[in-house]
Amino acid sequence: MEIYSPEQQVTLPLYQSKGVEVFFKRDDMIHPFISGNKWRKLKYNLHKANYLQKDTLVTFGGAWSNHLLATSCAGATYHFRTIGFVRGEAINNPLLDMCRLFGMQLIFVSREDYRNKQNLFQQLENLAPCYFIDEGGAGIEATRGCKEIIAELHNAYDHIFCAAGTGTTAAGLALGITDKQLHTQLHVIPVLKNGGFIAEEMKILDAPMELVQLHIDYHFGGYAKSNPILLEFVKDFVQATGIMIEPTYSGKALFALHDLIQKDFFPAKSKILFVHTGGLTGLLGQLEKFNKVQ
Ligand SMILES: *Cc1c(COP(=O)(O)O)cnc(C)c1O
Repeated sequence: MEIYSPEQQVTLPLYQSKGVEVFFKRDDMIHPFISGNKWRKLKYNLHKANYLQKDTLVTFGGAWSNHLLATSCAGATYHFRTIGFVRGEAINNPLLDMCRLFGMQLIFVSREDYRNKQNLFQQLENLAPCYFIDEGGAGIEATRGCKEIIAELHNAYDHIFCAAGTGTTAAGLALGITDKQLHTQLHVIPVLKNGGFIAEEMKILDAPMELVQLHIDYHFGGYAKSNPILLEFVKDFVQATGIMIEPTYSGKALFALHDLIQKDFFPAKSKILFVHTGGLTGLLGQLEKFNKVQ
């Protein structure tokens, strides 16, 4: 699949008043269903599954997982069967319906059973040649794909921003920056509470941490939590730029960037890249929240 992810400068009064330049790496434009970093993370997993002659991809996620949808669509595209273990009691929503439409078989499992993913996987592996893809696509193959974000860049940046759930994307970016010997600082915004663990996860994936700065105070209460300030921020940005973001990942990371620009964290003339990691289908479960703001 050819990657289409332009590097787009965005001008807003805030950026102009502080004299900084902000570009967006539009990974949200790669594909409507295999969105953003989920494509980056799947790419080398698909190569490996193919190489190992596995015909079934088995993966895991919550009921609104962008990764489940990405895997279901990638399976249909590259001719793998797909099976998704969904955490929690059986429910229905538009995202899961789209997974089914792409041919994914969904199996709902209790939170307790979900913890032992290897066990769930092995039960299927006895039946067919299956390939294990961790929740969110996390793992070493995934960092390889994310590294390519850096290799594609046309400009040099002083700072790069991204959201983190598992830290896999951030680890890939850090590896890419070192590979290219760039003088770029990587700013990582965990979207979960107590996000310090992201540094440990990144180290496990061999990420060089000297160039990484973690900003752990932009989680807004925890994963998928938000408040009217964040929702208002997302709404204002979307309306001012025409670029869709969502409150679970990109909204929090971009809020962090704007807050730091406001606080003069960056000297004038700084060149900053925001990696838009996509995942906009997750918005389908959250749109009502916006109607309650204002
Ligand atoms: C899954 C996801 C992330 C988290 O990426 P990690 O590699 O797990 O840190 C970030 N942004 C979006 C939009 C996502 O869907």
